[in-house]
Amino acid sequence: MYNTAATRHFSGTYAEARRKFLDAAAQRGAAIESFELEAHRGALGEALATDVAYLGKPGAARLLIVSSGTHGPEGFCGSGCQVATLNDADLLSRAEQAGIGLLLIHAVNPHGFSHLHRTNEDNIDLNRNHIDFNAPLPVNAAYAEVEPFVLPANWPPTAADMTKMAAYIEKNGMWAFRTAVTSGQYTSPLGVFYGGTAPSWSNRTMRGILRKYGSAATHIGWIDVHTGLGPYGHGEKIYAGRNAPADLARARAWWGADVFAPFEGQSASADVSGPVVSAVYDECPQASAAVMGLEFGTLPDQEVMNRLRADTWLRRHPEAPEEQQRTIRQELRDAFYCDNDEWKGMVLGQSRVVLLQTVQGLKTA
Ligand SMILES: [Zn+2]
Repeated sequence: MYNTAATRHFSGTYAEARRKFLDAAAQRGAAIESFELEAHRGALGEALATDVAYLGKPGAARLLIVSSGTHGPEGFCGSGCQVATLNDADLLSRAEQAGIGLLLIHAVNPHGFSHLHRTNEDNIDLNRNHIDFNAPLPVNAAYAEVEPFVLPANWPPTAADMTKMAAYIEKNGMWAFRTAVTSGQYTSPLGVFYGGTAPSWSNRTMRGILRKYGSAATHIGWIDVHTGLGPYGHGEKIYAGRNAPADLARARAWWGADVFAPFEGQSASADVSGPVVSAVYDECPQASAAVMGLEFGTLPDQEVMNRLRADTWLRRHPEAPEEQQRTIRQELRDAFYCDNDEWKGMVLGQSRVVLLQTVQGLKTA
């Protein structure tokens, strides 16, 4: 059986992940800052916070950001990567020698991380919430058509619901169906991939963190760790930046030709509106940035989607029997976190490569 000490960096609950992160950061002598989500508590009654650990000279011109838990339980993976990084003396000394500041942002969505929801305390998908709310909201007209069978009255869906969904896919194609469901919608607050109608607490918190730690940076590399799309254990490099040729070219120069841009159509991800990392352009406009969602595959895409639908259905049906609630929670967690040594080893190997590539990219930028 494959087993390394590295898997000890992963945790089984948000509370444990937070403790491991803060302990590892303190041991490394990082500057730590915590932003508490005061109006809410966690699933175990614990406090909820986005925690920040910074290593390097204050105001470093070259800044490497690693964030976790944008999508709640996907944080089990990202937190493990962050704690492993804090224990990676070799990588840290390379960053330090290159004068790079390392900013680790733990649990962008602490409520979802603790309560095992991909969305936040208001069912907002944070990667659809970083849009310009002064402009008209993005329109996803197809969403209203698919919601009735994506989120049917009863769970699991009836044969009639499944027939309607199959008919839609038959008529419009799988790509159109997935885009309708996942690209983001701003009309159904208890729907899937809901982007909200105002900046969320996490959005405001992240912007404050970026202004504080990134305002002196000339070059920023940002890896936001995700899970749930693509082949098991594979880390897909999803370009999450703006559609600008120089920015995409920078990302590919640093991370390779296997950086997939959703707007070019080869990514496992739809072209989504308002990802968290896009805030770098608003808050650190002076910096050239390379930004990526590093997305680790877990279960087959269709299975992940079904479990996500069940999770959203549950938010609409808090009266569901307790056993069904438990099952949906557990299946949702398993959809975004493969709690075994093999998968964690794959994750840590690939995330370490990406971090070393980013150090190299920042160093030579
Ligand atoms: Zn995600």
